[in-house]
Amino acid sequence: MKTQQNRVLEGIPASPGIAIGPAYLYGRPEFVIYRRKIREEDIPKELARFEEALIKTRKEIMELQKSLAKKGASSAKIFEAHLLLLEDRMLIEEVINELKKKKLCVEYIFSQVLKKYINAFSQMEDDYIRERTADISDVGKRILKHLLEQDKGHVLELPEPSILVAHDLSPSDTATMSKENLLAFITDIGGKTSHTAIIAKSLEIPAVVGLGIATRVIKPGDLLIVDGDEGKVIINPDSKTLQRYQKEKDKTLVSVRQLESMLGDLPAETLDGRRVTVSANMEFPSEVESVISHHAEGVGLFRTEFLYMGRQDLPSEEEQFEVYRHIAERLKPNPVIIRTLDIGGDKFLSQIDMPQEMHSFLGWRAIRFCLARPDIFKVQLRAILRASAYGNVKLMFPMISCIEELHSAKKILAEVKRELSRKKIDYDKDIEIGAMIEVPSAAVTSDLLAKEVDFFSIGTNDLVQYTLAVDRANEKVAYLYRPTHLAILRLIKLTIDNAHANGIWVGMCGEMAGELPLVVLLLGLGLDEFSAPPISVPKIKYVIRNVTYEEAKKVAEEALSKGSADEVEEYLTSTLDGLLNRCLKDTVCELRDVSPWLKKRK
Ligand code: PEP
Ligand code: MG
Repeated sequence: MKTQQNRVLEGIPASPGIAIGPAYLYGRPEFVIYRRKIREEDIPKELARFEEALIKTRKEIMELQKSLAKKGASSAKIFEAHLLLLEDRMLIEEVINELKKKKLCVEYIFSQVLKKYINAFSQMEDDYIRERTADISDVGKRILKHLLEQDKGHVLELPEPSILVAHDLSPSDTATMSKENLLAFITDIGGKTSHTAIIAKSLEIPAVVGLGIATRVIKPGDLLIVDGDEGKVIINPDSKTLQRYQKEKDKTLVSVRQLESMLGDLPAETLDGRRVTVSANMEFPSEVESVISHHAEGVGLFRTEFLYMGRQDLPSEEEQFEVYRHIAERLKPNPVIIRTLDIGGDKFLSQIDMPQEMHSFLGWRAIRFCLARPDIFKVQLRAILRASAYGNVKLMFPMISCIEELHSAKKILAEVKRELSRKKIDYDKDIEIGAMIEVPSAAVTSDLLAKEVDFFSIGTNDLVQYTLAVDRANEKVAYLYRPTHLAILRLIKLTIDNAHANGIWVGMCGEMAGELPLVVLLLGLGLDEFSAPPISVPKIKYVIRNVTYEEAKKVAEEALSKGSADEVEEYLTSTLDGLLNRCLKDTVCELRDVSPWLKKRK
């Protein structure tokens, strides 16, 4: 009998779908050591890592010793023994020999040898020697910490199809982990629009975040059901629950496929003829095929930072050019909006020395970073411009907060264009330039910004966090993170109105664009383009094709007249429930398939 049966944990739905499988616990990095195979030619590199870790540990201990000695602490002497252990030939040679023999990563080999030593010492009769066990363990942990630090870039691989259970996953962990055998992931912390959640959606892996206690109550091997639509996890379900979810899982797949085949390449046009664009967001170059298979009408946001993450060096102009060119050619004549590097916030690059900031989302992020590092910025701009000669490429600047930033970015872009022209390198001379509207100051001054660009794309993931002062990745304040807050609806309306008054089009690439009940509202506000994860594209198109623009305008008007987010959501639930059910009557889909949002609020 399992320790807990049918226990339900409630979290935040981060990526839709249902997954069923055993739990694989991913502990905090300093305590988890993976058994990773290495190749013969990797042996010298692994041994060099070992040597480096020993040197670092020695330095660390000596510094500690010095500072304790300065304070007159007698404990400084203890570290003499630790330093001696670092030179223990027997231990070092055993690690080297085992590594060569077994061809496994050095941290795994070292941890095994260490365990053996600790066991042997703890069984010694001599009290003095036995007490040295703690010293060995202490030094061993320091060495391991250094080995694991160097090893951050390594990819986590699951040994069998499993559900990954972690306290937290950084966007870089998620982006670099192997997807083989990964059925779903769940985390203790995190918010709906954290980049980790966004990556899960782009990979089409169900995910629930903000579960609070998952890593404390779930044991390795527990059978889990992950319901990514409703944000629920069921631990060791009974057979009835299991059957119900298995059925639900199969049906969801069928209904999504049915929707897709019904729609095919049909345009996103309302019943009374208003035509909008539904495009896809993408994070990884390989996703271009899924953009095509889900019939998106182009890419509304390519988050280029994932090209830079999980590696030791920066991507060269040539490498970036090849990626952008490939995507542009594959999607031609549909557009690809390439967003310039948006690091900082919750995305960091190990190859660049970025300061630890108290409020990283408000700090050295996105365009601020790029303007401070024109060397890095220009490489990317050159690559994007060069790719524009091969398809319909548009360029977009993230996190614009004032007009001066836009001027500076455009000035650098003009320099790069001149440079290319001088060298007679081809690029699209009329390439469209856009600004993301994701900072409240940009939305409020969108009348001024509109005169500087060809289009806007509203980034609600950030707009919500900055306007409502709610960290998008913090589950504790997730209840306050509401795109239906009237401040958000009003800022969106203002941005769309200002864009249209200045003759430019406006899209939305934040997650809000893929929330179906809000699609109707946004349509009614006059949004021209919706960009969401590829998997959401058919559903968005379906809703748009089954309402009239007049209907949508009324929904928007009515929603804006409400007094609170609660009232807006109540209104949308009552109105759209009927409307969407009407749309679905000829399909095998249920409300749950198209809109967990409505289902959850019932
Ligand atoms: C946004 O902020 O809405 C957006 C699309 O950008 P990101 O999620 O990458 O910050
Ligand atoms: Mg953003």
